Amino acid sequence: MERKQSTPQLFPNRFADAVGPAGDGPARDHCRCVGYSVATRPEVVSFHGDRQDTEAAGWQHLLALIDEAAADGRPVFRPFVELSAAERRQIVTLPPTIAKLTAVTHLVLYGTNLVRLPPEIGAMTSLEKFDPYTSHRLHWYPYELTRCTKLADSRVSTRVLYGNVKFRPPFPRLRPVTVTGEADLGTLDPAEWGADAVRTCSVCDGPVRAELRQVWISRCVGTDVLPLLVNACSAACVAALPEPYPGYVPAPHTGGPKIVQPFDSD
Ligand SMILES: [Zn+2]
Ligand SMILES: [Zn+2]
Repeated sequence: MERKQSTPQLFPNRFADAVGPAGDGPARDHCRCVGYSVATRPEVVSFHGDRQDTEAAGWQHLLALIDEAAADGRPVFRPFVELSAAERRQIVTLPPTIAKLTAVTHLVLYGTNLVRLPPEIGAMTSLEKFDPYTSHRLHWYPYELTRCTKLADSRVSTRVLYGNVKFRPPFPRLRPVTVTGEADLGTLDPAEWGADAVRTCSVCDGPVRAELRQVWISRCVGTDVLPLLVNACSAACVAALPEPYPGYVPAPHTGGPKIVQPFDSD
């Protein structure tokens, strides 16, 4: 669960090799999207709208590292260690090719500039340990992460999560239903939808065609309760979602300032 994160310079050495070399400028950007307390949390939050520059050297390097890891079947994958600071800053999401990493049991995304993860992470079916610790711009995760059924251990900076139990920041508002013609689901604005495209249903894995229903649900993944974004193909798939984690909004919801979260005195 949550560990202290106010003094990152004091992390023990075992994390030193998770970050990679420094020295060529900042490795990431900072945000205060969710505030850091009840007093500083905003009333309204929006998704990061960053688009991935797929021409960037960092992206190309990451693609190569994923191919290499898929080919040699390594169990621990720490791609950001191999990137320069400038390259690390260029990466705001992971490529769909992570679906090839079916032998990886431990994914280290420590201290990255990521603002979202793609649904393809759900294909990393050997994943046991998930470590995006101090990736402070990751405020939510894709529901597809729950497909990694062996995932037993996680290390997430929970204070930056939407709806976190510490001070309950809000969730971005979602459109309850989008029907064909209202949006091109192959090219979406990530600032509005959280992703730049939606192709498959987070619940049944079928194609999303006639309509898209987006909802938030808080569930336990590994050892952390995470706000998960569901892209569902139908009302039936939303209805098929499991119960949210106790102590969080008790049903799947569409976020926004009007959602009442359970009071917590923590
Ligand atoms: Zn942010
Ligand atoms: Zn579905």
